[in-house]
Amino acid sequence: MANRKGLLPLLIVGLMLIQIGCKSAQKQPEPPAQEEKHWGYAGDVGPEYWADLNPAYTLARNGQAQSPIDIVTADLAPEGAPAKPEFYYTRAAFKIENNGHTIELIPTEDSGYIVLDGVPYTLKQFHFHAPSEHTINGEPAAMEVHLVHQDPDNNLSVVGFLIAPGPENETFKEAFTRLPQTAGAENELEEPLDLTELTTTGASLFRYDGSLTTPPCSEGVKWSVSEQYLEMSQEQIDAFTALYPNPPGNNRPTQALHERLVYRAR
Ligand SMILES: [Zn+2]
Repeated sequence: MANRKGLLPLLIVGLMLIQIGCKSAQKQPEPPAQEEKHWGYAGDVGPEYWADLNPAYTLARNGQAQSPIDIVTADLAPEGAPAKPEFYYTRAAFKIENNGHTIELIPTEDSGYIVLDGVPYTLKQFHFHAPSEHTINGEPAAMEVHLVHQDPDNNLSVVGFLIAPGPENETFKEAFTRLPQTAGAENELEEPLDLTELTTTGASLFRYDGSLTTPPCSEGVKWSVSEQYLEMSQEQIDAFTALYPNPPGNNRPTQALHERLVYRAR
C-alpha cells in the first residue's frame, strides 16, 4: 500500500516506453547510406556493379591488375619466368564454412605454407568457385579451388586449380558430404585434411600478378594457376552447385590483362 502513490508515474513512464517501442518498430530506420551494400554475382549487385556498391571497391572497375584472367598459352612471356611455388602443406584439422559467397575451409591448426620467390606464405583458407574463374585458352572449367596464403607482411598469394568432372576427389571427400547448407553455417571436419595430394602431381603452373576476385578486389596478389586440372565427381560438383547454382554461379568474369605478363613458372 505504501507504494500506491508511486504507481501512477510508473504507469505513465511505462506507457511512454511502449509508445517509443512501437514508434521505432514502425519506423525501422533504413541502413545508413555508407553501409556496405551486399555484393553478389547477379543483377544490380553483380560483378559489373561492384565498384558502385562501395567506394572501397573502385578497383573492381579501375584496376589495371585484376583477376581472374584468361590465360592464353600462345601469349605466355617467352622469358623471365619466375619459379613455381614450393608446397609445404601438412595434414591438419579444418572447419568448413558457408559464408554466403562460397564454401570456405579454414585450418584450425597449422596446415603449412608455400614458399614463393623466397618468401613463406601461410595457408589461411581455401574455397571454391563454379564455374571456374580463370579460363585457359578461353575454356572455363566446371569449378576452381583457390588456396589463399599470406606472408608476414600480409601480402597474399593464391594458388588456383581448375576442376573438371572425373573420379570422386578423395581429398575433398568428407568436406563435400558436409557442405553447410545455409549462409553463416559451419561444420567441423572429423578427419584431418591432407592437401599434399593436390600438389605432388608435378603440375605446371602459370604465374601472374593480380587481385582478389571478390570485393574489394585488392591488387598485389601473386597468382599461381595450375595448367593441369584437378578432378571431382559430378556428384561432388552438383553438391556445390546446389548451394551456389549456375547460373549465375559464383565466379567473377575474366578481366583485361592490360600491361601484365603471364608466365609458365620454372
Ligand atoms: Zn576465390
